[in-house]
Amino acid sequence: MYDYLIVGAGFAGAVMAERIASQLNKKVLVVEKRNHIAGNAYDEYDEHGILVHRYGPHIFHTNSKEVFDYLSQFTEWRFYEHKVLASLNGTLYPIPINRITINKLYNLNLQTDEEVQGFFEKVKEKRYPILNSEDIIVNQVGVELFEKFFKHYTKKQWDLEPKHLAPSVCGRIPVRTNDDCRYFTDKYQYMPKDGYTKMFEKMLNYKNIEILLNTDYKKVIRDIKFDKIIFTGPIDYYFDYIHGRLPYRSIRFEWENIETEYFQSTSQINYVDSSVEYTRVVEHKYLSGSINPSTTISKEYPQRNGEPYYPIPSEENRKLYNKYKAELSKEINTIFCGRLAEYQYYNMDQVVGNVLKLFQDKILF
Ligand SMILES: Cc1cc2nc3c(=O)[nH]c(=O)nc-3n(C[C@H](O)[C@H](O)[C@H](O)COP(=O)(O)OP(=O)(O)OC[C@H]3O[C@@H](n4cnc5c(N)ncnc54)[C@H](O)[C@@H]3O)c2cc1C
Repeated sequence: MYDYLIVGAGFAGAVMAERIASQLNKKVLVVEKRNHIAGNAYDEYDEHGILVHRYGPHIFHTNSKEVFDYLSQFTEWRFYEHKVLASLNGTLYPIPINRITINKLYNLNLQTDEEVQGFFEKVKEKRYPILNSEDIIVNQVGVELFEKFFKHYTKKQWDLEPKHLAPSVCGRIPVRTNDDCRYFTDKYQYMPKDGYTKMFEKMLNYKNIEILLNTDYKKVIRDIKFDKIIFTGPIDYYFDYIHGRLPYRSIRFEWENIETEYFQSTSQINYVDSSVEYTRVVEHKYLSGSINPSTTISKEYPQRNGEPYYPIPSEENRKLYNKYKAELSKEINTIFCGRLAEYQYYNMDQVVGNVLKLFQDKILF
C-alpha cells in the first residue's frame, strides 16, 4: 500500500517524491517506463569514459535562490557558463547576436551599446502587432539577420516556418548590444558536479521511496494500492488519446567519438544554414568537465516521430491541450505536473520551482 503513485522519474516526479517522503514521511512508488531515472536530464558515462547527456545538452541556469538551494542538498556544483557559436557559411559567430556578431559579419568596428542599437534601428522593420516568431525577430534586427540566423535553423528544428510559430519560440533568444557571449545571463549557472543522474540518485534515496523502472504505469496500476497519483507523463496518453494526439518534435542523436582532445572551440555549435541537415553539434566534455584524450560529440537531427521532446507551440495545439485540461476536474485523485502533463516547454529550474510550489499549496495544506 502506497500513499502516492508517482508516474515518471524526471525532475517533476523526483522532486515530488523527495518532498513527500522527506517532509511527510509517506510511502511513495515511482514508476518509470525508461530503464533509468532523471528523465530527459539523464547523463551517463559512455564507453570512452566521457559523461554525456543522452537526451541533448542540459544546461542548468536559474535566477531562483530557492531552486538553487533546494537542489544544492543533493549535489555539489561546477561553475559553467554556456557559450554557443553559430556556423553560417562556414564562419563562426557568437549567438545570441551581439556586438561581436555584428562587427564580424559586416566588418564593422562598433564600440558601444549605443552604436549597436543605432545599427539595429537602421535595419529593423517595424512589425505590429507581433503575431509570430518572424515578427518578433524582424522587429528587432530586420530581415537579413533574421534570415541568416533564425529562419533556417527554426525551420529545421520545428519543420515550420517561424511565421507559423508563436513569438515565444524565437523570442526566447535575446538580441544584445554588448559583447556578452554567454547564452544565459541567470544568476546561478552551474552543472551538477558529478552529473544529473547522481543528483537524482541522492534525491530519491529514501527508505520511503521505491522505484520501478522499465514499467509503463498502465501495466501495473491495477495491481498496486495507492491513495493518490502524481502524473508527470503525457496528458493525452493518460486520457487514452480521447481527443487525439498532442504533437511533439523529437530528435535523432548521432553519436561519434573522435580521437582528438577537443573537436570544436565551444560546447555547442548551431548550424544555421539550410544546407546542413542537423541543427547543432554538442561536444559533451565541455558540459561535464570530463578529462579524456578523446572526445564525444552528438549531432541533432530534428524529426516528427520518436520520444516526445518539444511541445509544438501553436494555437491549434493549445486548443487541443485545453480539451484535455478540461478533463482534469474529474480526476480528483490525480495531480498533473511537468512538461508532458502540462504540454508546455519548461526549463529544469521552472519545473523544480513549480513542483516545490505545488507541494506547498496542494499537498502540504
Ligand atoms: C533536447 C532538450 C534539451 C533541453 N535542454 C535544457 C537545458 O539546457 N536547460 C534546461 O533547464 N532545460 C532543458 N530542457 C528541458 C528539460 O528536459 C525539462 O525541463 C525537464 O526534463 C522536465 O522534467 P519533467 O519531469 O517534467 O519531464 P521528463 O524529464 O521528461 O520526465 C518525465 C518522465 O516520465 C516518464 N514517463 C512518460 N510516460 C510514462 C509512462 N506511461 N509510465 C511511466 N513513466 C512515464 C518519462 O520516461 C520521463 O522519464 C531540455 C529538453 C530537451 C528535450
